[in-house]
Amino acid sequence: MHHRPSATIKCNNPVTVMTNSAAPHLLPVFARADIGFERGEGVWLIATNGDCYLDFTSGVAVNALGHAHPALVKALQEQATKLWHMSNLFQSPDGEKLAARLCSESFADFVFFCNSGAEALEGVIKLVRHHHFSKGHPERYRIITFEGAFHGRTLATLAATGSAKYLEGFGPPMDGFDQVAHGDIEAVKKAIGPATAGILIEPIQGEGGVRSAPLGFLKALRQLCDEKGLLLAFDEVQTGMGRTGDLFAHRRTGVTPDVMSLAKALGGGFPIGAVLATADAASGMGPGSHGSTFGGNPLAIAAANAVLDVMLRPGFFDHVQKMSLLLKQKLASVIDRHPDIVSEVRGEGLLIGIKAVVPSGDLIAALRNEKLLTVGAGDNVVRFLPPLIVTEAEIEDSVIRLERACAALSGSKRTAS
Ligand SMILES: *Cc1c(COP(=O)(O)O)cnc(C)c1O
Repeated sequence: MHHRPSATIKCNNPVTVMTNSAAPHLLPVFARADIGFERGEGVWLIATNGDCYLDFTSGVAVNALGHAHPALVKALQEQATKLWHMSNLFQSPDGEKLAARLCSESFADFVFFCNSGAEALEGVIKLVRHHHFSKGHPERYRIITFEGAFHGRTLATLAATGSAKYLEGFGPPMDGFDQVAHGDIEAVKKAIGPATAGILIEPIQGEGGVRSAPLGFLKALRQLCDEKGLLLAFDEVQTGMGRTGDLFAHRRTGVTPDVMSLAKALGGGFPIGAVLATADAASGMGPGSHGSTFGGNPLAIAAANAVLDVMLRPGFFDHVQKMSLLLKQKLASVIDRHPDIVSEVRGEGLLIGIKAVVPSGDLIAALRNEKLLTVGAGDNVVRFLPPLIVTEAEIEDSVIRLERACAALSGSKRTAS
C-alpha cells in the first residue's frame, strides 16, 4: 500500500540533480543533506530530481498544515495584493484580531509579535526582567532554566539554553541564567535567590530529545512561582499551535504560565513569533520598552490568522490526538520487532520521538533512503513531526518505511559482525 501525492504531481521524474557543491556561498553552519526540494503538497515533498518524500519534519514543527495548504495560499495571495509591510507606528487591525484570538484561547491579555522563536524568547526574557524593575525590584533579573533546554541561537537565548557546545567560542555567556537539572524541584528551590525573577521551561523539551516535564513538576513550579512572586514562562515555540494535540501544550497539563513564547507553526511556514503575557506580567512594558521593525508584518499576520481559522475548526485537535495514538501504537510494534535498532517512544500529540539504539544519524539516513524525512534531537532521539493534517494512510505508510529502514540497519549490522 503506497499512498502518493495527488495526480498533479509526478514522482520520479528527474528535473535537476543537486550536489553538495550546489551551495558554495551559503555559510556552512548547517550539515545539509544532499537533497533539494522544489515543491510540496500536504505531507509530501518533491525533490529537484523528482523523488517524492514523506515529510515527517514539517520544517522542524513549522508546516503544521502541511505544504501549500489551500487556505494559507489563499490568505497570503490575497494579502500580497493589498499590503506587505506597515510599520508599528500605525494601527494594525488584523494584528489586533490575531492577538485577540490568541488571548481568548489562552491565559494572556497581551501579545507582542516578532519574527522567530529566538526573538520571542528575547521578548520573554526582557518582559520578565522589566516586570520586576517596574515594581521597584531591579535586582530581580535572573531566570532559572533547565538542562537539555533549547531556547534559540541569539546570545541571550543561548545563555538561557546553557549548552556548552553551542556557547563555545562566542565569548562570555550573557549573565542572568541559572540552569538546574530537568524535573528536579529541590534543585529549583535551591537556585531561587533574591535576584530570581522567573522560571523558563518548555512543557516538552523538543530539541533536547522530546522530554516531557515529569508529572507534577509543572504544577510544583507554578506553586513555587506563586509563593515567591516569580513569573512562570513557558517556551511553546515547538509545543504550541496544535503540535501536542491542543492549541498549546500547557492546556493539557492544567498549569497556566504568566508568559509564553510562540513561533514555529504560528504562521504555518511564514516567519512569525509571539510573546503572550498576562496584564500583570506585562506591567513593565510601556511605549518604547521593546520593538521590532518587521514584527506583526501584515503577510505574517494574514498567514497566522489563516492557521488559526483551520486549527480552531471543530475536530482539528481530535484528529491530531487520533493520529498520535495510531502512530504511537504502530511505533511500539516496530520497537517490539527491532529492539536492536529502536527502544522507546516519547512525546505527545504529533511531537513524537523514538530513541534509537544505533546512532540516531544512521537511522535518519536509513529513513531518508526510504524517502521518509525525520529530524534528530538530543539524547539519540529521532523526531517524527508530521504535518498535523497527516492521514491514517500516511501514518501507516511512514511506519512501513520505518520498518524497512530498521530491517536494512539490522541487515548491515549482521553483515558487519
Ligand atoms: C526552535 C525553537 C526555538 C528557536 O526558534 P528560532 O525560530 O529558530 O529562533 C526556541 N525555543 C524552542 C523550544 C524551539 O523549539
